[in-house]
Amino acid sequence: MRTAFWRGEIATAAVLVLSYVGGVVGYLLDAPILIVVSALLLAAAMLYLIRMLYRLQERTGDLDEQALRMQEAVAVVRLLENELRHQGLHDSLTGLPNRTLLDDRLEHALRGSVRASGAVAVLVCDLDGFKNVNDSLGHRAGDGLLAVVAKRICSVVRTGDTVARMGGDEFTIVMADVVDPQVALNVAQRVLSAVRRPIHIGDDPIAASVSVGLTLGDAGKSAETLLSEADAAMYAAKSRGKDCVVSFQEPMRTAIVRRMNLRNSFDESLHGSEFYLQYQPHMSLIDGRLEGFEALVRWRHPEHGDIEPNEFIPLAEETGFIIPLGRWILETACLAGAAWRRPAGGGLTMSVNVSARQLQNVHFVDDLQAALSYSGLPPAELILEATESLLMVDAPDTTRTMERMKDLGVRIAIDDFGTGYSSLGYLRQFPVDLIKIDKSFVDPLDEPSPDAGALVSAILRLAQQLHMDTIAEGIETERQLQALVRLGYTSGQGNYLCRPLNQDAAAALVRQHFSQPPPVRT
Ligand code: C2E
Ligand code: MG
Ligand code: MG
Repeated sequence: MRTAFWRGEIATAAVLVLSYVGGVVGYLLDAPILIVVSALLLAAAMLYLIRMLYRLQERTGDLDEQALRMQEAVAVVRLLENELRHQGLHDSLTGLPNRTLLDDRLEHALRGSVRASGAVAVLVCDLDGFKNVNDSLGHRAGDGLLAVVAKRICSVVRTGDTVARMGGDEFTIVMADVVDPQVALNVAQRVLSAVRRPIHIGDDPIAASVSVGLTLGDAGKSAETLLSEADAAMYAAKSRGKDCVVSFQEPMRTAIVRRMNLRNSFDESLHGSEFYLQYQPHMSLIDGRLEGFEALVRWRHPEHGDIEPNEFIPLAEETGFIIPLGRWILETACLAGAAWRRPAGGGLTMSVNVSARQLQNVHFVDDLQAALSYSGLPPAELILEATESLLMVDAPDTTRTMERMKDLGVRIAIDDFGTGYSSLGYLRQFPVDLIKIDKSFVDPLDEPSPDAGALVSAILRLAQQLHMDTIAEGIETERQLQALVRLGYTSGQGNYLCRPLNQDAAAALVRQHFSQPPPVRT
């Protein structure tokens, strides 16, 4: 293409020269034909030149357009790069900085604190009961709540402070150059009040609250240390009843290490037979007859000693260790239940607690079936206890799992009834056989107040209408027992009736109970 162009130029130049020479010679020799031919040649060369110029102009236009397009493409790539960088550093739901950006800002603030006169404050804010909202109202409502909370937190911090979403329901605030610690505390208090204001998601008003952990430090501390301190303070706020702020104190560091230690020692714990089950009787409140047991898991840690399930079950759920642990609990409890059938002559029930993570596991029903056939426990004598919030999960998988459980013939109980997120619709949706009334409803029965029993009574009527059995949990006194009997309750569990027993003591109780007539309550 390029050669052809040059060839054309050389030819035109030659024609020009020829026509010029021809014209001059024609003029000198007075030869009009030569002059005419030269003039024609000259005209042809000129036309050709004009065409070439025109084309050249066209090409320059094309090049300009190409350059323009190139510039546009570069701008798009830049935009995309910026967008990707933004996405990499921000949370897509709330638009807030994410953990990576927060780490960066925190490092920056700590470096700056060498020159600044104030310290760096870190506040970890964790929504209370967020899982219940997600489970009962669905993930969209949960997302909506997070977005509103994010806005409210941002509205109470100073410009220049960083608010980040660390994932899940946790937000972190970093404040640089804090001269007076009270300023950070005030921000924490403002966060509490801002989140407490009712939040409307669709038609549902949600009463949210947040627990805040606060710590202060300077360049002498790493970003990681400050974050783990604020985290430990947040855990302390949760255990002090939630919806409050707690400042980090040195002894809390032990809690961080302990949680990490427990998480790390799960894997070895099952092989080392550190777990064992205790069995707490379910008894008739009318005549003291033994009706069954609830299996309660215990952990005797080689280093930390006895650890309560309320401490390690959430950790086991977080790490997924609840799956093998839950399988072992189910097998062990079924075996114990089957062993006590002979002295009891059958008919005792064995209740086993199951957590959300277990029910969501695709192999759960297979494990259940295996435990039943391996132990020989009739399915009708096994009760699986699930908490309310677990049943309120709007997940088709959970419904299917429940139906398969029912097909096997096992019974389903709602544990800690009355402590979940209070939608009773799920009672119809799931094949529930039994309601365990939470201890918090039984506690007030100890007081002489006449309306202490109103709620417990209403729950009983509801259960009766739905043809469900009831068990009152956490009975600690004779007065509570008598009040429950007066209200119409027939079954109960609690330390007043019998504390959880180890396997041998439970077996002895079964033998003793069925070798002599049960005591009759008056
Ligand atoms: P839960 O299923 O509601 O179990 C009843 C809890 O109340 C037990 O605590 C029991 O020891 C305690 N309790 C019984 N009677 C009384 C009483 O009169 N007064 C008081 N104050 N407490 C009483 P525990 O064994 O510490 O278990 C706590 C929770 O840990 C259980 O509550 C259950 O949610 C969970 N858990 C226990 N074992 C297992 C298990 O094998 N698997 C799963 N997933 N969770 C378990
Ligand atoms: Mg239970
Ligand atoms: Mg319970």
